[in-house]
Amino acid sequence: MGIDAGFDMVPPLSKGAVDRQNWQSFIEFIKGSYKNDDLEVKPNYIVFKVGEHPMLPFEGYKFLRFSSKVSGSHAKGADEYIDAVTRAAVVRFGSRVRAWHEAANVWGVYDWSEVNDSFRSYEQPDEPEIPTSMAQYVLGTEPKSDLNLPLFSIQPVTGKGKGLVARFNIGKGKRILSETPFFTTPNLVSGSLMESSIATKLKALSKTEQRQFLSLHNNFPGKHPFSGITKTNALPCGPDSVIGGVYPTICLINHSCLPNAHNSWNSDAKHETIHAIRLIKAGEEITISYDKGGPYDSRRAGLKRAFGFECNCSLCILPLAELQASDSRRRQIRLLDEAIGDPERVMIRPEESLADCQSLLRVLEEEYKDGVGVLIARLYYDAFQICITHGDQARASVFAERGFRSRVICEGEDSPETQNIKGLMENPATHRNSGVSKRWKTAKKLVPKGLDNAGFEKWLWRRGS
Ligand SMILES: [Zn+2]
Repeated sequence: MGIDAGFDMVPPLSKGAVDRQNWQSFIEFIKGSYKNDDLEVKPNYIVFKVGEHPMLPFEGYKFLRFSSKVSGSHAKGADEYIDAVTRAAVVRFGSRVRAWHEAANVWGVYDWSEVNDSFRSYEQPDEPEIPTSMAQYVLGTEPKSDLNLPLFSIQPVTGKGKGLVARFNIGKGKRILSETPFFTTPNLVSGSLMESSIATKLKALSKTEQRQFLSLHNNFPGKHPFSGITKTNALPCGPDSVIGGVYPTICLINHSCLPNAHNSWNSDAKHETIHAIRLIKAGEEITISYDKGGPYDSRRAGLKRAFGFECNCSLCILPLAELQASDSRRRQIRLLDEAIGDPERVMIRPEESLADCQSLLRVLEEEYKDGVGVLIARLYYDAFQICITHGDQARASVFAERGFRSRVICEGEDSPETQNIKGLMENPATHRNSGVSKRWKTAKKLVPKGLDNAGFEKWLWRRGS
């Protein structure tokens, strides 16, 4: 309980030069008027160490309200600070400052949900700005707060420019964000053609979006800057797609050879999603993979060529012996992948193809630990295909179910890929290869019950049968 008092800014300040300068001088005045005992200067706002810790953001257009309890147990001397800051604001903003005091039956103009939204925006730095129409944060339940805080902040990361850093523990499978691209474009062969095509697309964007685009890293400086930025940042719209999309926020996510997040293009929703593929701890940088992996030398050379950086991720900085072990796993992954993809062997010796799937599963888990991500979804799909090709609906449905669960983690239920595998899980016989051979013919309902884990895995992978 207690009485609230403070002031609202009505209408809110604009981003224009006059409002910006006035706000800046107001902030400087406040900073100069109080000592560190009274307030703390955070990267994006000032917080007073009194009452309910009222805040003033550095970006004035975000500001709606400065207030605190001024009586009761949460007041702690806030009264005089509220008065003084209100007076200082009136000097600069005149009648836009609406002072209010519940004891006098004068109430704030904005409702608290709006005000709480504005508080939440303080944490987000101004550049790059995330227009709400383009970036949609999916808000987590992690923060024990009634403010729905975004799961990450954009901040400088040592040696990498900007990056996304988790503000809370983000659980495996959680959608961190989804974002619509500025534009999509094919990777055109002619530099000048691509340049003029992108120039046209840029003209259709707002000034803010244009600035955001131009602030992205360019690994190919020269006479085609728009193409250079696009080539450095575009993410393919789907695996192996020749169309790429450039994004305001997602393009700030840095690379790791052992990423903790997965990016994927949702062709229905026409947006890119980022999901945590393992638990991401608060304070940890959110990373995706820019490449297809491979051993140390080749993958680092590839990253340097395409993106212009030396990778110093948690894998690349391991001691030599551990790197060599990782390299040998990665070579094995590639070999197994190629072997599994051999359609002739699937027809003639499917048990070998299936055994390779199981080996691949083990190596992937050893190499990527808890963050295998979409590779595991692809592996289960391969195992599904091998089984359904030979009419084994029971095992096919189990593999499809595992593939489905992996897809949900990496892409969410709304992804077309997830929906596709879900359909196959329910009706494996609808797959185009279903029953090409009758060698392993089994009905879907013949999944054994009552086996322990080891027994079930043995049945599933056709070991010892
Ligand atoms: Zn690396």
